[in-house]
Amino acid sequence: MRIANVTNRLTIVTEEGAVDVAAASGGRFGPDPQSVYDEWEPFVGWARTADLSSSAPFDFDALGSPVPRPRQVFAIGLNYVNHAKESGLPVPSVPMVFTKFPSAITGPSGTIELSGNSVDWEVELVAVIGAEARNVSEADAWEHVAGLTAGQDISDRQVQLEGTSPQFSMGKSFEKYAPIGPWLVTTDEFENPDDLRVSCLKGEESVQDSRTSDLVFSVPQLVSYLSKIVTLYPGDVIFTGTPEGVGLGRSPQIYLSEGDVLTTTIEGIGSMVHKFVSPVNEETPKKIRDEAEEATSGAAAR
Ligand code: ZN
Repeated sequence: MRIANVTNRLTIVTEEGAVDVAAASGGRFGPDPQSVYDEWEPFVGWARTADLSSSAPFDFDALGSPVPRPRQVFAIGLNYVNHAKESGLPVPSVPMVFTKFPSAITGPSGTIELSGNSVDWEVELVAVIGAEARNVSEADAWEHVAGLTAGQDISDRQVQLEGTSPQFSMGKSFEKYAPIGPWLVTTDEFENPDDLRVSCLKGEESVQDSRTSDLVFSVPQLVSYLSKIVTLYPGDVIFTGTPEGVGLGRSPQIYLSEGDVLTTTIEGIGSMVHKFVSPVNEETPKKIRDEAEEATSGAAAR
């Protein structure tokens, strides 16, 4: 089953089109896409036998994030061996966890304003929690996952890595730096949810192409690990890490610039497409710093 957010309404996407859940369930389930995870088991039970014939066509542009307001967003760094290598860092012995703040979440299409000139791409498989998880074993972990979707862990490398004790969370939380979509696919739809192709195109060029079977810590391992420290709530999101091929790991390094189009694809789920633009709002910290630097160097030249 594909769970989508169409114009901020909870929707099931079928072969025929979009089925509005609030309408099809006679109000049993509300229109808010985020609320469904709090009632995940009854919802899946209802959907299995529901009449989903009243579908309507919908535009890709009308899709929002299938998880618009998670309470917690976890992201995992260096979770593919070859990505750790290209980053010049050792493969972690325990999951390396940071957050993308939920205000950075956006849907599977549209434009994203660049925060600076070192903005990088990271295709990632995203797991969404469907049942509260506390001290869950690896064997039971998939039962706490509602489904899988695609994510982009857009990263401003300068902001991510600056400071003497760098933290990753701020450089990865600019507005719209956490696209999720195009929809959530329930785990029963995958022949093997632990082995999916993840790929990313910059324009026509393939920049990332790997499989989730290469994850250092698999989805069940991550759910189990996180749940031994924090409670995972229904609707929480885990960005599972990116494979090799990011701009930071190249020589010379390549970053996103105005007009670039990123296509983010995960096998069995679908694709997201985003276009990058220069900031309209010039209040971002990087922009302010650049202007300050320019003013300073200009003054020195004079
Ligand atoms: Zn990442």
